[in-house]
Amino acid sequence: MSDKPDKLITDDGLRLDGRRADEIRPMKIEIGVLSRADGSCYLEWGRNKILVGVFGPREAHPRRSQRADSAVIRYRYNMASFSTEDRARPGHSRRSIEISKVSREAFEPVIMAELFPKTAIDIFVEVLQADAGTRTAAINAASIALADAGIPMKGLITSCAFGKVDGQIVLDLSKDEDNYGEADFPVAMTQDGEITLVQMDGHLTPEEIKKGMELAKKGCKEILEIQQEVLRKKFETPVEDTVEKA
Ligand code: ADP
Repeated sequence: MSDKPDKLITDDGLRLDGRRADEIRPMKIEIGVLSRADGSCYLEWGRNKILVGVFGPREAHPRRSQRADSAVIRYRYNMASFSTEDRARPGHSRRSIEISKVSREAFEPVIMAELFPKTAIDIFVEVLQADAGTRTAAINAASIALADAGIPMKGLITSCAFGKVDGQIVLDLSKDEDNYGEADFPVAMTQDGEITLVQMDGHLTPEEIKKGMELAKKGCKEILEIQQEVLRKKFETPVEDTVEKA
């Protein structure tokens, strides 16, 4: 871990990586990167690198895990052992189990699971490189991978954290800000702004949370635009093509 810098935010309001308080890190999304998955996504967000594969709806095994009235949604978040500065211990941990659970719950309100009784929809997340904000990055990638798999959803889910650094509320914490900041508050929401995940690490006043939620909404709106652009590129058939094929 790097030494604590004197200041995480300069007097000019710039953060260590040059961002302003309300700016997210650069995000890059590729869709359909795994040929064996029904849907997939590779996402880079700052230095985070995340790969997501979606499988299903497919018959759920073991059978006792099936639900007669809907699909079961399974979400597995995993960090590669080489994804962090210190080697991450392979396999499940309390942290990965918790992240998997809250991330699955973040998608449950939008996935139309009732259309596929007795099946499973599996979302596998592999964190290849971690640099703070991996759960939010993974949710953004999973949203695209689910759409790529053609899973019926009421809309996309977007996710972004805010936090408190040097006493200021800022959007999308970097690794140093996460290490040395005072609070981290990941949020996920539907396209309509309905909150489907909130977590808090650290201490924030109600006013700070209110301010942070406004920032998170702004961040999620920007991410939604990036997600929609990627999906539009993949699925929008140019009018000329449709005419030629008819
Ligand atoms: P998130 O990645 O969603 O922000 P945390 O706040 O738990 O989740 O973790 C912050 C960062 O700390 C991670 O993105 C990663 O860079 C690092 N980290 C998390 N778990 C480990 C671990 N087991 N070993 C080393 N670094 C880790």
